Amino acid sequence: MKEETKYICPSCGWTSNLDEKESWPDHCPNCLSGIHETDEEGCECGGMLEPVGIWVRESDAWEIVERCRLCGEMTAVEMSDRDNLIKVMSIASKPLSSPPFPIERMEELTRIMGGQGEEEGKMNRENKKRKYDKKYFRTHPCMDPFTCKVCGWPVVPAGAGSGHRNHCPNCLYSLHLDQEPGDRASDCHGRMEPIGVWVRKNGEWAILHRCQRCGKIGSNRIAADDNPMKLMALAMRPFGSSAISREEIRDMTASMEG
Ligand SMILES: [Zn+2]
Ligand SMILES: [Zn+2]
Ligand SMILES: [Zn+2]
Ligand SMILES: [Zn+2]
Repeated sequence: MKEETKYICPSCGWTSNLDEKESWPDHCPNCLSGIHETDEEGCECGGMLEPVGIWVRESDAWEIVERCRLCGEMTAVEMSDRDNLIKVMSIASKPLSSPPFPIERMEELTRIMGGQGEEEGKMNRENKKRKYDKKYFRTHPCMDPFTCKVCGWPVVPAGAGSGHRNHCPNCLYSLHLDQEPGDRASDCHGRMEPIGVWVRKNGEWAILHRCQRCGKIGSNRIAADDNPMKLMALAMRPFGSSAISREEIRDMTASMEG
């Protein structure tokens, strides 16, 4: 009987006796890893879910974005009171310790790119100018420019620095077109909101997107011309949130200092 209520983390070995009211945790409070039971199609996976990023919901509640090491699928789990704060904070701060551009040049880069960071009115005028200036597109070697449905930005596929443009460089929104990256096999077509950034194994940043229609979470590599100000704002979101109080951080550091 007792063994049935004992939780042992398959990743770090952390153990806990669960009392009767407690439900089986969907992630380990110590290392935040979990097990990917079934994928979107309902197939059993069994891969290890690794925490990669923090999603600050509109309600200010935090969710931990997990990525399956086996199949690559992403999912979000609610942060619990028992979660290891040090681990949570280290995930939240990881992107800031490896920014994809020199932070001191962020404003300059944002200006060069022509995106937000300046006041909105200016951006809109700039937008219109770009939109109706046919010459702009003529001087850009792209075959298929399109207008971002979210912010109205004229998106030029060739500016991305890679063959594959999968989100708007200005507002960073994407569309839910893929089941697997690049396959264009989804018929959802919902808007995918940028909810955070995470650092891939090679140190590169990727944007975490969540579909506003179906809730699917995906990840897209950042592109060379992405709005630096917007990227930084995403990375810093957890630090402007009140989900973790100053008292909690103070207690945490106090316990670390011993
Ligand atoms: Zn663990
Ligand atoms: Zn999986
Ligand atoms: Zn946009
Ligand atoms: Zn969707």
